[in-house]
Amino acid sequence: MKKYSILIAGGGSTYTPGIVMMLLDNLERFPIRSIRLYDNDEKRQEIIGRALAITIKEVAPSISFSYTIDPETAFTDVDFCMAHIRSGKYEMREKDEKIPLKYGVVGQETCGPGGIAYGMRSIGDMLELIDFMEKYSPNCWMLNYSNPASIVAEACRVLRPNSKVLNICDMPVGTLRRMAYIVNREPKDLEVKYFGLNHFGWWTSVKDKDGTDLMEELLAYISENGYLTQKAVETQHMDASWQETHKKAKDILATDPAYLPNTYLKYYLYPDYVVKHSNPNYTRANEVMAGREKHVFDAAKAIIEAGTAKSGEFDIDNHALFIVDLARAIAYNTHERMLCIVENKGAISNFDPYAMVEVPCIVGSNGPEPLVQGEIPLFEKGLMEQQVAVEKLVVQAWIEKSYQKLWQALILSKTVPSASVAKQILDDLIEANKDYWPELN
Ligand code: NAD
Repeated sequence: MKKYSILIAGGGSTYTPGIVMMLLDNLERFPIRSIRLYDNDEKRQEIIGRALAITIKEVAPSISFSYTIDPETAFTDVDFCMAHIRSGKYEMREKDEKIPLKYGVVGQETCGPGGIAYGMRSIGDMLELIDFMEKYSPNCWMLNYSNPASIVAEACRVLRPNSKVLNICDMPVGTLRRMAYIVNREPKDLEVKYFGLNHFGWWTSVKDKDGTDLMEELLAYISENGYLTQKAVETQHMDASWQETHKKAKDILATDPAYLPNTYLKYYLYPDYVVKHSNPNYTRANEVMAGREKHVFDAAKAIIEAGTAKSGEFDIDNHALFIVDLARAIAYNTHERMLCIVENKGAISNFDPYAMVEVPCIVGSNGPEPLVQGEIPLFEKGLMEQQVAVEKLVVQAWIEKSYQKLWQALILSKTVPSASVAKQILDDLIEANKDYWPELN
């Protein structure tokens, strides 16, 4: 069996240890000869890198492991690049969240003005990674889950249409796991139909392997409780803000009781509620820095200090299983059915063929083949058309360095109440992002 060479771009990410642990846990299904980390923040990556060197030496000493900030060393002889970078890191995420909140507007990582600001930072960095990959390992596939995935995917469609980049998100996978808890099945046994944009979609069908339709049971549960289940509360370390998000799905479902919604829709459908429940001085970025980031880096430091990882400091990230499955689907042409972010091309038959949509795909050696989801109703179509225009305008604004187009993107976002508020937020975001965005004219 061929052994694969993996590069993790964003080596210093809080997700890197969990993904490496998941890769190590799946070596029989997906053999690996080399794992390398790449980051542009040497100090941050070194902590994770040193701890993982100790871990890998103990668990799988035959795997060659290294970490580097040099693109050529990183990207040479790689089969799969798993990319999870955060352009501007948490320092900028905090600004993405806090600046809109100053004006009473949703402050969120990927939705609304915060997502637009993050998108403007991510496009250039993602293109750089793709170009490194194509220069040093032209046969490599990039599995990208860096956010904001919808804007990154649109930038790839426009600017790198032939590159082997597959954009994917763990949110539907996580929600599917919650659905599995509700109907007492294994997540792998559920087969879904889904349409939407990234962080902006709906499940139209959920069946088990025998073809039993589970929609009615799920709709009944979620209309009462959202996606919050006792099992999820007990088994997953969920911050309070996530519990609240899963509960809120109940109110999103009320806007169309036929389809199961992605939880991110709350930012577009209930922005007033979100703002009311946000603390402008302590946002999700602060929660993550004090929570997941601290936990992961403390664990890494503990491993380095002890010189061993035998106390099990790093956890396997269960979410990361979909990334292993995705790599396997490409490596072994498994034709696994997975939700991917792809060019529509008629998959949603009454929607822009050139939009990047999230739909079930069959994934094999040639990448994802979208499955037709047919026509969608006017309510969802209207919402999606508005949102996809935002995403396209951001990419055009980045390419053309256009203030006007970026302002239009903000005006069109359903989270922003008026053109004047959009302008005030934009001007603050420009100031905050001057080290990252192209200079707009
Ligand atoms: P993090 O800040 O802990 O890690 C990101 C790392 O990327 C940092 O070490 C940073 O130095 C590095 N980086 C930034 N720009 C870079 C560049 N140009 N080249 C190389 N490295 C660069 O962030 P995190 O919370 O671990 O999240 C990482 C990414 O994964 C984010 O984009 C996040 O939104 C995304 N994410 C995606 C999903 C999904 O399923 N789509 C799920 C969770 C997280």
